Amino acid sequence: MTDTGRRRPFRHLTPPGVDDLHSAGGDAAGRWETDKPDERWVATHCAFCGVQCGMHLRVVGDEVIGVEPRMDTHNRGKLCPKGVAAYQQISHADRLTYPLVRDADGLRRATWDEALDRVVDGIRRVQTAGGPDAMATYGGASMVNEKTYMLGKFARVGLGTRFTDYNGRMCMVSAGAANYRSFGIDRTANPITDVAMADVLLVLGANVPETFPIYIRWFWEAMDRGATMICVDPRETTLARVAQLHLPIRPGTDGALLNAMLHVVVHEGMLDEEFIAAHTSGFEEAKAAVEPWTPARAADTCGVPAADIVRAAELFGSADKAMLSHARGLEHQVMGSRNAMAAINLCLATGNIGRPGAGYGTITGQGNGQGGREHGQKCDQLPGMRHFTDPGAIEHVAGVWGIDPSEMPEPGEPIFRQLERMEAGEIRGLLNICSNPMVSWPDQGRTQRILEGLDLYVVIDIFLSESALLADVVLPGSAWAETEGVVANSDALVCKINKAVDPPGEAKPDIWILTEIARRLGREEQFPHMSAREVYDELRRASTGGRADYTGITYERLEAEGPIAWPCPTDDHPGTPRMFEDLRFYTDDGKAHFNAVEVDPPAEEPDDDYPIRLTTGRNVAQYLSGNQTRRLGYLSDQTPAPWVEIHPNTAAAHGISDGSPVRVTSRWGTTVLPALVVRTIRQDTVFIPYHWGHPVAANQLTKASFDPISWIPAFKTAAVRIEASDEAAWAVTPPPVHQGGAR
Ligand code: SF4
Repeated sequence: MTDTGRRRPFRHLTPPGVDDLHSAGGDAAGRWETDKPDERWVATHCAFCGVQCGMHLRVVGDEVIGVEPRMDTHNRGKLCPKGVAAYQQISHADRLTYPLVRDADGLRRATWDEALDRVVDGIRRVQTAGGPDAMATYGGASMVNEKTYMLGKFARVGLGTRFTDYNGRMCMVSAGAANYRSFGIDRTANPITDVAMADVLLVLGANVPETFPIYIRWFWEAMDRGATMICVDPRETTLARVAQLHLPIRPGTDGALLNAMLHVVVHEGMLDEEFIAAHTSGFEEAKAAVEPWTPARAADTCGVPAADIVRAAELFGSADKAMLSHARGLEHQVMGSRNAMAAINLCLATGNIGRPGAGYGTITGQGNGQGGREHGQKCDQLPGMRHFTDPGAIEHVAGVWGIDPSEMPEPGEPIFRQLERMEAGEIRGLLNICSNPMVSWPDQGRTQRILEGLDLYVVIDIFLSESALLADVVLPGSAWAETEGVVANSDALVCKINKAVDPPGEAKPDIWILTEIARRLGREEQFPHMSAREVYDELRRASTGGRADYTGITYERLEAEGPIAWPCPTDDHPGTPRMFEDLRFYTDDGKAHFNAVEVDPPAEEPDDDYPIRLTTGRNVAQYLSGNQTRRLGYLSDQTPAPWVEIHPNTAAAHGISDGSPVRVTSRWGTTVLPALVVRTIRQDTVFIPYHWGHPVAANQLTKASFDPISWIPAFKTAAVRIEASDEAAWAVTPPPVHQGGAR
C-alpha cells in the first residue's frame, strides 16, 4: 500500500495504534514523529465513501507518499482499492495550482487578486440586476463539516441568498425525507455493526460487496452466524448470489414490494401490536394503503413470484431481530422517499427498531454524506439540522453568525428546482464547490445548456473537472489531506480528518477562499479569517440544542477517544451510536410515525421505441463522478471505461456479443459502449456504471425527473433501446488535465 517505486520501503509496516501515538510522543492531532525529522504518520480517515475508514498517511517533507489502514478505527485494519489509492491525488500532476479566468480564448492563468475581483464584480453585477437571490451556491458532501457549514453561512450571510443546496440531493435526500417523516430526525437508526447481530437481513437496492466493501464484513458475519439474507436487486450481485432469497425486481417497483410485504405481515398476524400501540401513530392509514397490495398484484408489478414476496414477508415478520438496509437503488426513483417510508413502515409494524440487531439503516455513499446534510449547506436547513420553520432556530443561528434574525433569508429550494429558475433567467450566477454536475446530474445536455447560460459560473475544486471546464472562474482549493476538519460517516460517527501537507502551488484552503470573497463583498465583520478549529468551534455553538448536536464533540475528544456518534450535547456525553433505544422519537408527539404509501409508476415506462429499463450504479474502483479516481492509475487501470451489462437472451435477440459495441439510446441522448453479457441481470434491464463524462456518460441517457418530496433524480428507471453497432465503442477520453499544473 505504499508507493515504493518512488521511495524506499517503509521501515514501519505496522502503523502505531492510538495508545502508541501518545505514548510514543505523538502530538494531540495524532501525528507521530519517526526518528527522521522529515518523516511522519498522520492519523486521518479516507477521502472517499461514507464508511470513512481510518488510515495513516505517510508523509515525507511536503509530500504524502503512502498509506496504511488503522487498526483502531471501525475499518479494523482494512481499506478498499479506493482507500489504498486516495493519497495519490494529493500531489497529482493534474492538481489545480493557480486560479483560472475565462477570456475569449478560454481559461487562462490569473492572479488571486484578478480572479477574486472577477468573482466579486460578477456577484455584484448579478445581484444588482436580479437581487440577492439571483446568486446560488452548490456544495459537495465530500467536504468536511467545517466547509459545508461555512458554505451555508457564506450563502446566507455573505451573499444574502436563499439559494444554496448540495450534491447529497443525488444521494441521501430520499432516505432523509423518510427519516424526518417517520422519526423526526435524519440519521441512520442503527449502527452498521448491528447487522452482525440480526437474525434476518433485508437488503434493498444496495450492492454492498462492490460499493461498501469494508462494511460487507458485518453482513458476512451475520450469515456465518446463521442469519437469513433476503436481497432485493434487479441484478444478481455478490450478495444476491449467496442470499437465501433473491428478489430480482423490476427497477422502480420497491414501493409495491414493500407494501405487499406489509400486507402479508398484517394478514398473517405478524404485527407487533404492543409496540405499535405504545410507540407509533398513523398505523391504520398505512394499513389501509397496503390493503390493495396483495402479493399477486405486487408480483405482477415487480416481476417476481408472489410466493417469494410472501416468503420474504414471513421471514422478516417472524424474526426476533430483523434489520432492513437500503441504498440508492431504492432511493433513485420518483418513489424514492415513499419507498424509504414503506421500508420504515415494515420495521415499525414488526417492532424492529431501537434494539441491538433489530432496526433500520440507510447506507451513505459520499464521504460526508451524513454530515453534509447537517450544518446548513442544504437548502432547507440551518446548522445542527435545524429548520427554518422554527423561529427559535433562526434566532439562535443568527446570534452565532452575528446578524439580526430579520436578515436571515427564507429557506431555499432543492438544486433541481433552482435549475428551473436558471432556465427562466431568475438565478443568473452559481458558485459550485467540490462537485461535478456535468457527470452527476441527469440529462447532461440540459445541464450543459444551463451552466453555459449563466452570467457568472464559479468553480472551486482541486482538479479541472468536466464542470470546471465550463466556468468563468476556477479557484484552486484544498484536498482532504490539506486541512483539518470532521466528517460524519454513514453511522453518524464524527471522525477527525487531520492535515498532512499544505495545498500545492498557489492553491488555498476552501474556507479561506469563501471567507475572502465574503470579505471583499463587505462582510468582514461576520467573516474574519479563521482556522478550521475556530470554524468548528463556531459550528458546535451553532449546533447546540439542534437535532444534530455536536456540542460535546471537540477536536480534543476526537483525537483522544476516536470517532463519536452524534447527538452528543455535553462534554461528558458518550455519543449516540444507536438511536431510539429509549423508544422516544424526535416527532411532535414523541412517537414513530407510519406513513401511508401510495405507489406511482416510474418516471419513464418502457414502450415500443424504448423497450428496456436502464439502471445505473457504482463500481468498486471508482468514486462518484470520477473526477478524482479516474486520474489514479491503480484505479483507472481496473475500470478504465464504462460498459453496458446485458442478459445473454437479450443480447442474442439484438445480435450483440460479449465485448461488441452497443448503441444505447434514450429519449434524452445516445452513446456507444462495449457489451458485458452476463446472466446476472434481468432480461428486460441493462446496467451502466456512471463514473465517466461525455461521450460515455450514463447521464446522457437519464431523464430530469424527480421525487416530488426529496427532489432526488430518478436515475434508476430510464427507458432505452439497444442496438448492435458497427461503430467502435467510444475511446474514453481521460479527465481534463490542467496544463502546467504539476507540483
Ligand atoms: Fe473505506 Fe470507503 Fe475509503 Fe474504501 S472508499 S477505504 S470503503 S472509506
